[in-house]
Amino acid sequence: MSDKQRKCLTKIGWQVSVFCASLLLSGSVLADGSLCVFTRGQPQNPLANLEAPTAAAIKDVADVMTYLGYDTRIQIFAGPVANAAAYPPQGGRDGFIVYNPDFLTRLFDINDWAATSVIAHEIGHHLAIDANHPNSHRRELAADEISGCAMARMGATLEDATAAMLRGLPTNSGSPTHPGTSERINAIETAYNRCQSE
Ligand SMILES: [Zn+2]
Repeated sequence: MSDKQRKCLTKIGWQVSVFCASLLLSGSVLADGSLCVFTRGQPQNPLANLEAPTAAAIKDVADVMTYLGYDTRIQIFAGPVANAAAYPPQGGRDGFIVYNPDFLTRLFDINDWAATSVIAHEIGHHLAIDANHPNSHRRELAADEISGCAMARMGATLEDATAAMLRGLPTNSGSPTHPGTSERINAIETAYNRCQSE
């Protein structure tokens, strides 16, 4: 781990102290078995229909982990989720992420960073101590903050870091599980600015 990575890790350390095992604690897994979905919408039996990820998706996971300073193993699969979702270790797998290929393709049409920022959000669910945020909205904002930090570290612009939220999804005022668009954008921006200024 480089000094720069260590510094980033320290800065977001309030969100992070243990890894995927913590995600198995009761209360941190949604009814569908996932830790989160990127936004509203329920997956349809996604774990029975996992497919190989694209090379770009694998590289995104590796790059985000490197820039955040982690070597925790997180797998990624394509599957029939609404958009993207994080799952705790199960069935002999490490903690993993499932993405909807059509959703990610739409994000790639926006710009090169939009899909990466969504994958970084899902990684954020694995790295944050979700059990320390019993409120679902807080868990989502913690994952958004980790995504914003990763985008800053990786060299994205602030516009890139928020493109998926502003241009890839309909603007909304929130749901029982997810904060509204403006609150999520604010979380991304705050973390982006903090991590960029280090
Ligand atoms: Zn989420």
